Amino acid sequence: MPEMDLKHTFIDKLHALCQECNPSPALSPKMLMFNESLARDMGLEYLIQNSNECLDLLSGNKIYKDSRPMAMAYSGHQFGHFNPQLGDGRAHLLGEIIDKEGNLKDIQLKGSGRTPFSRRGDGKSALGPVLREYLISESMHVLGIPTTRSLAAIHTGEKVFREEESFGGIMTRVASSHLRIGSFEYAYKNKDISMVKDLADYSISRHYPEIASVDNSYLAFFAAVCNQQASLIASWMTIGFIHGVMNTDNMTISGETIDYGPCAFMDAYNPSTVFSSIDVNGRYAYSNQPAILTWNLTRLAETLIPLINKDKDESIKLLTEVLQLIKPVYTNYWLSMMRSKIGLSKEERSDIELIANLLEIMEEEKTDFTLSFRFLSKSLIGDSQTVRTLFNNSRRFDGWMMIWKERISQEGITEEKIAASMDKVNPLYIPRNYKVEEALKAAVFENNMEPFNKLYDVLQNPYQEINGLESFSDPSPESKIPYKTFCGT
Ligand code: AMP
Ligand code: MG
Repeated sequence: MPEMDLKHTFIDKLHALCQECNPSPALSPKMLMFNESLARDMGLEYLIQNSNECLDLLSGNKIYKDSRPMAMAYSGHQFGHFNPQLGDGRAHLLGEIIDKEGNLKDIQLKGSGRTPFSRRGDGKSALGPVLREYLISESMHVLGIPTTRSLAAIHTGEKVFREEESFGGIMTRVASSHLRIGSFEYAYKNKDISMVKDLADYSISRHYPEIASVDNSYLAFFAAVCNQQASLIASWMTIGFIHGVMNTDNMTISGETIDYGPCAFMDAYNPSTVFSSIDVNGRYAYSNQPAILTWNLTRLAETLIPLINKDKDESIKLLTEVLQLIKPVYTNYWLSMMRSKIGLSKEERSDIELIANLLEIMEEEKTDFTLSFRFLSKSLIGDSQTVRTLFNNSRRFDGWMMIWKERISQEGITEEKIAASMDKVNPLYIPRNYKVEEALKAAVFENNMEPFNKLYDVLQNPYQEINGLESFSDPSPESKIPYKTFCGT
């Protein structure tokens, strides 16, 4: 049988930033989800054909003889406070493999037992959060948002204890890398400039090879990360996604979304929405995400000061110039995505006001974020009533529609074509909170994967309306108790 051709470039180049350690074997593992299409993209067809081998490998029960599993070291600002000693406390990187497109990808088990970084934790993941990450990360991928991917979700057969007694789960995560802002903070905290330099060089060669030879490549590297992150947060904002725990250890250098702990999609539009039970001050509320983007990147900038210029003041000046660009760069991405959401391909100065006015009415009328955009296109193909009903027939919305239609008429494209293009960027089906909860409850506590599989299938095709699937597009039923999410750690 062919073994996975694992590389260990991180260990080879950044040994001081990880600790080699093996996953713990799982008691009686069972494969609940396996992503065949991702396995094919990764050139791992042999795992599809050999389910026993696949289960053994991804549950930590088999370790290939040449493989060198490890846990990464990193620090991080958690809710604004610096924690120097984090690191993978319940995850093992099996290694890297080259996918079919020639890109190096990390394969990591999460929930695979204790590591030197576990501190007081048990090194396990509860099954609910594992399935949640599987579902939401794959949904984000289909929605075109850069994200880590999910290759497998395994039931370990063991009990774990969190808010309530549950079962253990192991997630196999595939990522462009697991480098985080927190990795740089870890290297920097020891004032070991060569470690920061090695990390920056590795990050550049892995994610931004095109800048390796430019003048001051470290400054260009910082600008490239800022650009990727700005684009990522703009895509979250335009889809109503709230990450929930934007700590610097959860922000990747690649610009992929990572760590789907307490994340959730917003129902009724309210910029101050917070779902996470631990985010008591709303630091990571929906509307704070763009400001936190800059805050986090400022922490990255601090670690790069010694690399940019011998003169510290000059370094700070250069990095500050890049930091000041984040907001306009973010706004450009956001505006361009929002324009597509309301069917505009030409650019007019007044577009930003048009979009801001729509958001204001959405907030006033508490309309569902996803459906507001999705139903707008119906008014271009003869059905204005559906969207008007959603907006409670508000006169202010009618006024907005008149201005919008006038603006649409300047596009020089038929309304049918504009409606079709809008439906390609405004999903009808997103992971609705109550549907996610229903599916997880059945999977974890009733041993029934059917609701999960059904929801997963619906989310694989989010843009095409299918009769009979109304319950998947309906907003979560109004509840007196606001929806809360938990890290599940
Ligand atoms: P997360 O909430 O997944 O971003 O984790 C934050 C930090 O806590 C990381 O260093 C994790 O490795 C660590 N951690 C979370 N859960 C556990 C656990 N059950 N056992 C050990 N470490 C954990
Ligand atoms: Mg994390």
